[in-house]
Amino acid sequence: MLNLVLFGPPGAGKGTQSEKLIAKYHLVHLSTGDLLRSQIAAGTELGQRAKSLMDQGILVPDEVVIGMIDSKLNENQTAPGFIFDGFPRTVPQAQALDDLLTIHDERITTMVALVVEEEELTRRLLSRGQTSGRPDDQNEELIRRRVKEYNEKTTPVAGYYSNQGKYAAIDGVGDINNIFEAICHKVTEAQQD
Ligand code: ADP
Repeated sequence: MLNLVLFGPPGAGKGTQSEKLIAKYHLVHLSTGDLLRSQIAAGTELGQRAKSLMDQGILVPDEVVIGMIDSKLNENQTAPGFIFDGFPRTVPQAQALDDLLTIHDERITTMVALVVEEEELTRRLLSRGQTSGRPDDQNEELIRRRVKEYNEKTTPVAGYYSNQGKYAAIDGVGDINNIFEAICHKVTEAQQD
């Protein structure tokens, strides 16, 4: 199985690269942002609680996203692999993911981090906000808040995988296909380990 963590700040291109990786490796896409937005759209209690935090650019509690990932892993037991997009976003989430995968006799193959600096991220997100309809992409202050939340709570997750020898950084600025090729190269290397 190929279990890939796609890592990077909001606007780094995780969604774009996920689509290409799914097409190539036939992975099941697990995006906690998308899962939370479906809960909001369905008007569930979980969705309502998450929305007030997401509207402020703050992370939702670990147990909420871990519970959603747990259900999806159970629902997709015959999948050839998973791509984790926007998860894990804290070190406790990374530990919980390792524990859940161990139950299924699986493990993370590698984490690929897309590296993009903050001014470029803000530009990309404001431009996405003009068409995506996502309220959290339409306000510069909120975008900066999300990047700050990322720098404080999510950056340590890179160290978590690096300690396991499973961290690969890729320059997230440039041609989409070239970035994709660079990711595939890292995946091939990790599969040979
Ligand atoms: P982006 O990476 O563009 O900020 P996402 O769609 O991944 O967007 O997430 C949108 C929001 O959903 C985040 O700002 C956060 O509030 C919440 N969220 C998504 N994934 C997680 C997670 N793993 N842990 C906590 N909160 C999350």
